[in-house]
Amino acid sequence: MSVDPDDSGSEAGGNDVSPASSPPHGTKQKLPTTAIWPHPSIPDPSPAFLQIGSLPRLPIWHPAPFPQEYAHLETLFLCDLCLKYMPSSFVASRHKLHCVAKHPPGSEIYRDGPISIFEVDGRKSKAYCQNLCLLAKSYLNHKTLYYDVEPFLFYVLTLADSTGCHFAGYFSKEKTSEEAYNLSCIMTLPLYQSQGFGQLLIDLRNSKENKLGSPEKPLSSLGLKCYDKYWAAVVFACLADAHAGQQPLSVQDICYKTRMTKDDVLYTLAQNQWLAHTDPAEPYHFVLRSPFPANTNHRRIKRNQLHWVPF
Ligand SMILES: [Zn+2]
Repeated sequence: MSVDPDDSGSEAGGNDVSPASSPPHGTKQKLPTTAIWPHPSIPDPSPAFLQIGSLPRLPIWHPAPFPQEYAHLETLFLCDLCLKYMPSSFVASRHKLHCVAKHPPGSEIYRDGPISIFEVDGRKSKAYCQNLCLLAKSYLNHKTLYYDVEPFLFYVLTLADSTGCHFAGYFSKEKTSEEAYNLSCIMTLPLYQSQGFGQLLIDLRNSKENKLGSPEKPLSSLGLKCYDKYWAAVVFACLADAHAGQQPLSVQDICYKTRMTKDDVLYTLAQNQWLAHTDPAEPYHFVLRSPFPANTNHRRIKRNQLHWVPF
């Protein structure tokens, strides 16, 4: 593992966050791409937009329990380097001049061109991770973790330019999971969705695991969409390889090759109709029935760029 010499374990995010008195709960399933003010799905008062760094202003999809002093704002401003929340563009521009963070407060474990992934410890960088969870809640319908971040590790995907490594997405993992979940929560910013970053994060999770693993359930609608694509791609690759090489293949073989649990493999085979049972007296067999995974945005971890020993 490469350790960033600048990682002092300090909390890069400066917000002293505390739970709002009554956190609202998002129940809206349809994910809108535009917002009006006030947004009909968000209880008033609550911000309706996030201005993240220099990105276009983004509508909030699900209400998040931002501190009360921000609840009345139409737009909340967020530094995409340290994830500090601010109430106005003036404060945000002043902060930009003085923000010392150039990347998330953790070890860089992966780099491929402008893409980096940092491992951030929820215990060492509590404020940063709490701010990250509030950001994630704005775009996830099922997320419930906001403040108890210490038992978790956060894997933050950034895109670099001359000013630093800017937040694009992340996944979290419990350091010790009794249920052996290998991923708790995953999110990419709306602007970066459908570009394969979610699959890259999932592939990171699977690339160094020596045991079968599964994400925590229930998955958010975004997480499920991401996993459906990833699982379909890797299971299809197993089926196609076996078909091309005329090799026998079992569900256990697929589990071993993909590090997926049996339940997840069977779910994926059923979802894509790759299991057939033509004769009741015969066992199920695999079929490569179209449509095949059409996702052309497959991003996969380049193993030689990864410097990471899983926790
Ligand atoms: Zn900052």
